[in-house]
Amino acid sequence: MKGTGGAQPSARTLRATRHNENSGANEEHIKEEEEADRDAPGPLTTSRKQPVKEEPKAETPPKPRKRQKVKKEDPVAAQMVKLAPVPPTAYTGPFPKLMRPSPEECRAARDGLARLHGEPEHAKQIKPDPEAGADSLHTHSQQQVLDSLVRTILSQNTTDNTSHRAFASLKGAFPTWEEVLQAPSGKVEDAIRMGGLAEIKTERIKAILSTLKQERGKISLEYIRDMEDDDIKNELTRFKGVGPKTVACVMMFCLARDEFPVDTHVWRISKNMGWVPAKANRDDTYRHMNIRVPADLRYDLHVLLVEHGKRCARCAKNGKPRKESHGDCPLVNLQGSAPAKDLLDEDIVKEEAKDMEEDDIVKQEVKVKEEVAS
Ligand SMILES: [Zn+2]
Repeated sequence: MKGTGGAQPSARTLRATRHNENSGANEEHIKEEEEADRDAPGPLTTSRKQPVKEEPKAETPPKPRKRQKVKKEDPVAAQMVKLAPVPPTAYTGPFPKLMRPSPEECRAARDGLARLHGEPEHAKQIKPDPEAGADSLHTHSQQQVLDSLVRTILSQNTTDNTSHRAFASLKGAFPTWEEVLQAPSGKVEDAIRMGGLAEIKTERIKAILSTLKQERGKISLEYIRDMEDDDIKNELTRFKGVGPKTVACVMMFCLARDEFPVDTHVWRISKNMGWVPAKANRDDTYRHMNIRVPADLRYDLHVLLVEHGKRCARCAKNGKPRKESHGDCPLVNLQGSAPAKDLLDEDIVKEEAKDMEEDDIVKQEVKVKEEVAS
């Protein structure tokens, strides 16, 4: 394994990461984000809907002298103690004693993955002219915030490409958001039917459009571009069906904020790598990684891990990559004393199943199906 830095730009580029410049840009990626995360509202940093289960440990200042309880079968937890000399005061996440991934490790992972999969493409972040018609898809080459949000909602629970088709179909049928709002729900559902969960998604999209119109007299989310990160999170997660990961994706891809969305691939690989404990849920993984991963590496590392999770036989879910391999896994040399992957798979499957159960959309889907059946 070569050291950090000096990654040679690959001739190959990471097509899946192209976004923003074209309409329809990031839905493949965002779809992946949403695939295993139907955005049940989670903690994030919002002030809203704090789940009861929330962590007391994140609030408690680290006590260096107190020895942490360690289960013997959890090498990561053991490592947490070993690596925990002086917890940084700035850390407010759930695993204050876990110092991984270090900045150097993040850099090495980014560089190794970029050599394998190609350098991620970074879209130009051009602020659209708000006077040019904020609710028209066709006005700008760069997508509006509201477009990005709706794309993300449409991408929930879909397979490749379907969310892109659903969005294109929606915009074809109703070129402006005003038209979507005024259209009968059935017509909107028909337009996005191929993406699945059309009734739920239509209801949620219309609720967002309606709220924006009522509150601001204009169906646009461009106003959040000037907000602070936490304010954006609060503003967006108040909408039903818009959870922490959807917001993180919109913020990272559309608003170029330093976010590190944790989708199912990032979550699984983070556990395999020992970057979070084996039992870490996705919300805690998000909070930990958004502190530990240096801001300037977040975009690349996120994009590359998602791509890697689809292509690496070692890192893919159940060892079954859904895309063609690009070669040997560069993360293997970084894994250190993390638990063996075999041991983790069971936990991951359990966690993902639990996550699915808690999922708002999945529950609603079942409900809808039951209603249809009865
Ligand atoms: Zn791998």
